[in-house]
This record gives sequence, structure tokens and C-alpha cells, in this order.
Amino acid sequence: MRVLRVVEGTSVDGPCLRTSLYLAGCTHQCPGCHNPQSWDPMGGEEMSEDELMKIIAYNEAPVTFSGGDPLFQPEAVASLAARIKRELGYNIWVYTGYTWEQIEKQPRLMEVMKHIDVLVDGPFIMAERDLDIIFRGSRNQRLIDVQATIAQGKVVDFVPDTKL
Ligand code: SF4
Repeated sequence: MRVLRVVEGTSVDGPCLRTSLYLAGCTHQCPGCHNPQSWDPMGGEEMSEDELMKIIAYNEAPVTFSGGDPLFQPEAVASLAARIKRELGYNIWVYTGYTWEQIEKQPRLMEVMKHIDVLVDGPFIMAERDLDIIFRGSRNQRLIDVQATIAQGKVVDFVPDTKL
């Protein structure tokens, strides 16, 4: 998979110290995007699933996929996320510019959802920008409890423990 960078021990992409994988490629072109260099699908470097698993296991920490948009490489993310769950059992978050309603219509993207805990969905919208909301850039973005949403067939919010 094309990886822009791996950040070990970050606290900005979800609760607790996490290993964040920033993946290359994004087509959403949100005005005001914090990182337009991430849009290039050939940006960063190619890293294998085994290489990434070694880093993730070494850190013994939950994992966040961000970018770019990690759902630009859905097969690779689904495979790695499944392996993280199977071999390590770690909590997994995914940040995407797609909304849940767009994702649930696309089987390739739903394959990723099978393996993740929390989705931060939707594009960054400058007019909705809010520095006071936790783990998101703009108010339209939701924290979604993915497994509860799949089980109940309707969006279930994830409520973070703000004491973390
Ligand atoms: S989804 Fe994220 S990376 Fe992609 S354009 Fe929007 S803000 Fe930028």
C-alpha cells in the first residue's frame, strides 16, 4: 500500500496513544484541505502488509488509518485491518471523506467496515470548521460506531470518553 507516513504514539487521531497510518491518495478535493499533498495516489512509499504489521505490533497500540483517504486503497486497508484484528485484536479507527451513506452502497468499502471500530466520516467543510469538537475538523463529520451501525442498520454515534 502507498504510505505517506507512519506516526507512532500520536494522540490526535482517536483516544489513547495510537499508531496512525497516513495513506496516499484522495479524490474529494475539500476546499481548505489541511494536506493537499496527500491527494497524489503515488505519493509516499510502497510498504508491505508485513512491514506495517511489524511496526503496529511493536507499538502495542490501537491503530488509526488516515490520509489522504484510506478508502482510496480499500482492498489493502481491508486486508491489513482484518489481520490487525485477527492477530492483535487492536481497536481501529478510519478517517474518510466519504459519508456512511456513500460507503454502505459500495461493497468494496463495506469490506473495510467489517474490521473497524470507529469511522470518522464526511468531507472537511470549511464553513463547518470547529476547533472545539474532538477528533474532527468540521461539524458535519460524525464519529460512527461501525459495528453497531452495521448490526442495527442505522447510524449509531460513537461517544468518546472525554476523560481519556
Ligand atoms: S478527505 Fe481529507 S485529505 Fe481528502 S481532500 Fe478532504 S480533507 Fe483533504
